[in-house]
Amino acid sequence: MLVPIPDLTRARRLLCVQPHYDDNDLAAGGTIATLAAAGAHVVYLTVADDLLGVLDPALSDDEARARIAEEQRVAGKEVGVAEQCRLELPDAGRWDVLALRDSIARELRRVNPDFLLTVDPWLADEAHRDHTRTGIAALEAALLFGLPRYRTTPEIDAGFAGSALRGVALYFTGRPNTWFDIGAGRDAKHRALDAYVSQLDPDTLRVIHAGLESKERRWGERAGCTFAEGLRVLHPAHLHCNPDAEEMV
Ligand SMILES: [Zn+2]
Repeated sequence: MLVPIPDLTRARRLLCVQPHYDDNDLAAGGTIATLAAAGAHVVYLTVADDLLGVLDPALSDDEARARIAEEQRVAGKEVGVAEQCRLELPDAGRWDVLALRDSIARELRRVNPDFLLTVDPWLADEAHRDHTRTGIAALEAALLFGLPRYRTTPEIDAGFAGSALRGVALYFTGRPNTWFDIGAGRDAKHRALDAYVSQLDPDTLRVIHAGLESKERRWGERAGCTFAEGLRVLHPAHLHCNPDAEEMV
């Protein structure tokens, strides 16, 4: 492997791009909370408006939006999120993946993180198009946003002095190559998940906590600690024509 896998433990500035309002926390909340507790600046970018997943059909769209925003604020406080940004694209709706890529590239230029976290678009059996579209849009944005001839908006482009991106970390992945010790952030992750009551009823939440604990323990065995999260961490150079991709597990 010509380009080594970057060290996620040294991340200082994270942009975490998620399809839905709970995906970052469900899949990587322990990692993010651990890095935030160590001083990393964390920005969340949520793609969908999340209205389709709201359980109460009696709520108006505006009421549902307000609850989602409040739940995200409460969860973000637990994890240590400094800024919540939302694109409000229709949940499981018709929207253009290239336009999403450009929106994410704009946020990459604005935030200029050293690590991008997002969903793995190549997870086997994944049928939710919000997940596959968000993952591929975010990774293509990671490839392109540092190029000098790429354009977002004049104000943001004027303040952009070059990419600081050192790595991307994919969650909800079937091909992890990094097992991140979440000892310092695990409790915050699980407390954050309890905020997402518009979409997760108490029985579902119980199943999620138990299922996550089982995975966190198994990943912890790989990491040599009690609890870990499995992620696929790549250098931006790995995102295009990488002949070592299948061996990087
Ligand atoms: Zn989702």
